[in-house]
Amino acid sequence: MRTMNPSDRPDPSSVGETLAAQALDYVRAISPYVTGKPVDAVAREYGLTDILKLASNENPLGASPRASEALRQRAWDLNIYPDGGGYALKQALAAQFELDPHGIVLGNGSNDLLEMVARAFLAPGRNAVFSAYAFAVYALATQAAGATAKVVPAFPPDHPTMPYGADLEAMARAIDADTRVVFLANPNNPTGTWVDREDLVTFLAAVPPTVLVVLDEAYSEYVERDDFPDGLALSRQFGNLVVTRTFSKIYGLAALRVGFGVAQPAVAAMLDRVRQPFNVNHLALIAAEAALGDTDFIAHSRQVNAEGLRFMAAAFAERGLPTIPSLANFITVNVGLPAGRVFDALLREGVIIRPLGGKSDTGGISCHIRITIGTQAQNERVLAALDRVLLRLNESASEAS
Ligand SMILES: *Cc1c(COP(=O)(O)O)cnc(C)c1O
Repeated sequence: MRTMNPSDRPDPSSVGETLAAQALDYVRAISPYVTGKPVDAVAREYGLTDILKLASNENPLGASPRASEALRQRAWDLNIYPDGGGYALKQALAAQFELDPHGIVLGNGSNDLLEMVARAFLAPGRNAVFSAYAFAVYALATQAAGATAKVVPAFPPDHPTMPYGADLEAMARAIDADTRVVFLANPNNPTGTWVDREDLVTFLAAVPPTVLVVLDEAYSEYVERDDFPDGLALSRQFGNLVVTRTFSKIYGLAALRVGFGVAQPAVAAMLDRVRQPFNVNHLALIAAEAALGDTDFIAHSRQVNAEGLRFMAAAFAERGLPTIPSLANFITVNVGLPAGRVFDALLREGVIIRPLGGKSDTGGISCHIRITIGTQAQNERVLAALDRVLLRLNESASEAS
């Protein structure tokens, strides 16, 4: 083979561009997931030091102390691959939730589980059904598999009990012969809305058993209502249910990336086939197992969150700012101004929250911001900053008009 004269070699970046153009059409069409803004980035850009991040629904109390202690004691053997089967963690989960360990699949965060479901069950010509304002990863995972997203309109903003909530009857009607997966988060992110047990059971009974229902319970540990469904219990009755949970939220282990899915063993085996062999790392396995038994920390986290949620809901009601009902560890509020502007102004105050809307906004949520519930001091700080920002922005808006 003749070697090319270096000067004839095409410019590497144009080679890159040409290759990118050859990526699958449905991959090229994906709009990238925007993660919560990191504290360090805000510190750099704005020259601030004391930054409060209430943007990604992390636990404001830190990590489970038992998990931290387990890491301190057992964070060795880093040269050895982790247990790809996650035996010890699966045994602990099976004992804790009375599950068949063969039905458990571990993920590098529960995001990983959502991707496994998409990779194993979705493809061009197939579709996934989910609600408007659902967790953004459902659309991403569906599109990355080349499948079609059937986004079902949510309840309207003036709905009497669940504005922006998932309309399960409409979702059941949207299922067609090409539907393979339904995604439903309970409670949902970024709205905080939920479905109760009765409505969920009615829905599950209406879904054909040939369609997988992914019930994403990332926030379920925070819920304190008697009529809230337990997906793990329902998965014993409905063979097409895949329940996902995470260690990122109430257990306080977002940095480690670990979550799990519970399905029929036959379904779990399919997810395992598309899973990377060592998808969950050694430290994550150790920490998750310890966190699972940290009942004091979980109970305390739940209590602090419930108090904070009540406090924030009352504070917004006082200010006349409409909130979406939430059972999660965040609250979504209509600030009456474009969310992006409020986000930018809050950054200057050293507070990071999450603006909704943007490119994927399918109708009327672009004046909402999502705020993670923090400690009492953090909640007061974000409210004070928001008061200053809204006063300033509303004043400049009225001057301009
Ligand atoms: C945070 C969140 C997750 C969890 O993601 P991990 O990958 O486990 O960190 C899953 N689903 C929803 C709806 C979430 O908000």
